[in-house]
Amino acid sequence: MRIQAIITEGKGSFVLDEVTLQPPQADEVLLEMKASGVCHTDYDCMCMWKDRAPRAEDFLRVGPRSSTYIMGHEGAGIVLQVGENVNHVKPGDRVLLNWAIPCGQCFQCLRSAENICENRRSLPDERFDWRGRKINTSFALGTMATHALVPRQAVVKIDNEISFAEACILGCAVMTGFGSVVNAAKVTPGSTVVVLGCGGVGLSVIQGAVYCGATTILAVDIAAARLDMAMRFGATTTLLADTADRGLQQAALKVRSMTGGRGADYCFECTAIPALGPAPLAFTRSGGTAVGVSGIEQSIPFDMELFEWDKTYLNPLYGQCRPTRDFPLLLKLHSENRLKLREMVTRTYPLDGLSEAFSDMRAGRIAKGVLVMNA
Ligand SMILES: [Zn+2]
Ligand SMILES: [Zn+2]
Repeated sequence: MRIQAIITEGKGSFVLDEVTLQPPQADEVLLEMKASGVCHTDYDCMCMWKDRAPRAEDFLRVGPRSSTYIMGHEGAGIVLQVGENVNHVKPGDRVLLNWAIPCGQCFQCLRSAENICENRRSLPDERFDWRGRKINTSFALGTMATHALVPRQAVVKIDNEISFAEACILGCAVMTGFGSVVNAAKVTPGSTVVVLGCGGVGLSVIQGAVYCGATTILAVDIAAARLDMAMRFGATTTLLADTADRGLQQAALKVRSMTGGRGADYCFECTAIPALGPAPLAFTRSGGTAVGVSGIEQSIPFDMELFEWDKTYLNPLYGQCRPTRDFPLLLKLHSENRLKLREMVTRTYPLDGLSEAFSDMRAGRIAKGVLVMNA
């Protein structure tokens, strides 16, 4: 079938164009897409090969082979057609997509670490044809399109009351932030939690800390508007950081004095600013836990003294998501009005509004932007 999709070659630009999809094979699902979240990762992947050639590890993100691919990895929609081995969803079901698509059989999956599956599912590029070329899909999903063809393990059924725009952000920002608190750090009731950066992921960390019963949730950001939002999501105190405060050292000293000189029990880094990779350690007490949530990968100098004493630095991928455990919990919390999602989707855009969505996101004007198809 012919669909409309946003395609990039990873050199800093994209086009909205027609792609031909093959029908779903045995383990595949065809969806009509209704919403796709817009994520910093989408922007980074779009620029990945601007200044360098593709490397093998890049294809973990964008798919198995081709360096041209359909963008987007945060999706929700309606099942149109399923292959013969698919029995957990049927045509007409409302679903969200999960980008860490577990095989269910490898070493990591068998120890329940499905987020770091060693044999992540993806589809062969023969399924997607763009101007006579075989192409990939971002994270084996390709949600920025009118339709998507995905592995069955990526598809999670959702209830009727949640909107597609709310559901799609569960499958990345919300899962990453919430899961880093609940699954990875396992924040205990009564704790003091510091959150560095209050975008979509940071706000999800705050919601996770509220869920865990943290009593002090201290939000740090350089934008006053984001701190206002943090308070609405459950932060108890805010600290406006100075852009000149390198490594957030001054902010860390302030937090230390606010916590009786000891430091916080937990600190979560959600800024995606490479220089702030070590920062959460500076806010954390001896024996406490620092968590890198934003997935910084750059090479940066690291003062080992920051680990003193007995501190732990966790670097969870995707909030250690186990899809069958975590999405039912998040959907339940949403249905009980204990998870703010609508409030997180600051703005929606049509499929041809991605440029505007990227510029709003990069200017920090929105917590989360979502493309809404056929609205
Ligand atoms: Zn994302
Ligand atoms: Zn696996």
